Amino acid sequence: MDMPLIDPFARPISYLRVSVTDRCDFRCVYCMTENMTFLPKKDLLTLEELDRMCSAFIGLGVKKLRITGGEPLVRRDIMTFFRAMTRHLDSGALDELTLTTNGSQLERFAGDLYAAGVRRVNVSIDTLDEEKFARITRWGRLPQVLRGLDAAQAAGLRVKINAVALKGFNEDELISLAEFCAARDMDMTWIEVMPMGDLGNEDRVGQYWSLEDLRRQLAQTYTLIDLPERTGGPARYVRLQESGQKIGFITPLSHNFCESCNRVRLTCTGQLYMCLGQEDMADLRPPLRNHPDSDTVLAEAIRAAIARKPKGHDFDYSRQKPDGQVSRHMSHTGG
Ligand code: SAM
Ligand code: SF4
Repeated sequence: MDMPLIDPFARPISYLRVSVTDRCDFRCVYCMTENMTFLPKKDLLTLEELDRMCSAFIGLGVKKLRITGGEPLVRRDIMTFFRAMTRHLDSGALDELTLTTNGSQLERFAGDLYAAGVRRVNVSIDTLDEEKFARITRWGRLPQVLRGLDAAQAAGLRVKINAVALKGFNEDELISLAEFCAARDMDMTWIEVMPMGDLGNEDRVGQYWSLEDLRRQLAQTYTLIDLPERTGGPARYVRLQESGQKIGFITPLSHNFCESCNRVRLTCTGQLYMCLGQEDMADLRPPLRNHPDSDTVLAEAIRAAIARKPKGHDFDYSRQKPDGQVSRHMSHTGG
């Protein structure tokens, strides 16, 4: 490795999140419209191209790779890609290979993921009520996801649950979700709903449930102990004294933690977003595709992109409209 990737604000970039597909077997209302138009397959990076791309970042000092989407486990042959990344874990170049999933395919793939070196997965579950689950995901079925959780834990994967905080939807499940996770020895993270994609007739401001409020409600039942732990992202953690469980809060809206940001995001078509909340991106597909035999130009393009990483983003609901909104869907950039 030559020089590690350092951005203009002296932040080392050690974490790459990669969306491997924009497709999904769910249609969560805050993420997708019911009839999404997906990208033509030819625009997607092939599995070999994803390998080259990720390996180039790892060669430049990226230590943590998170695979996301869309739903990463619906991409055909995705295990081939996971298995290819195992070599970077084996060599010590990569510290962690992980994924964020809706859990629908975990029953099938949990063992293969563990064998490829994955040790932790984030599974998104916003509600434990079957009817509400079907409503929020439109196409998802809770029992299938719960079987996926069982399979993941049986395979030895550590599971963390992600839930999007939605006013009037899962406010009443704050405690039951915490108890469900504690009983299964799973940590959990609450995420503020972000103004991504075409809002259409979705009422994103009305759905917004501030995590400050959520935290206050949690503190009525549990004693919250602030943890100093930082992962370079917009998450802050507490431990519940009563259960010992860790709860995270991802608050891109009520707080910005951009000063410690260590991450960039690659779309499934090869565009690098230096900030989730900004439109600026660098298209890495031409330097990748036009130079099939060498990664020198690609590495230069990556460096040039990191040199443009902005200081922070501007999401803001305080004026009762979703300011700082970006037009692309979360499934495109990868949440
Ligand atoms: N399909 C996988 C899943 O659902 O975990 C991975 C991709 S999904 C885009 C990643 C995460 O982004 C999920 O936890 C999802 O709940 C979250 N997400 C999607 N749209 C969001 C939004 N508008 N605001 C906040 N979080 C969102
Ligand atoms: Fe699919 Fe995940 Fe988006 Fe839900 S949040 S539609 S599961 S990509």
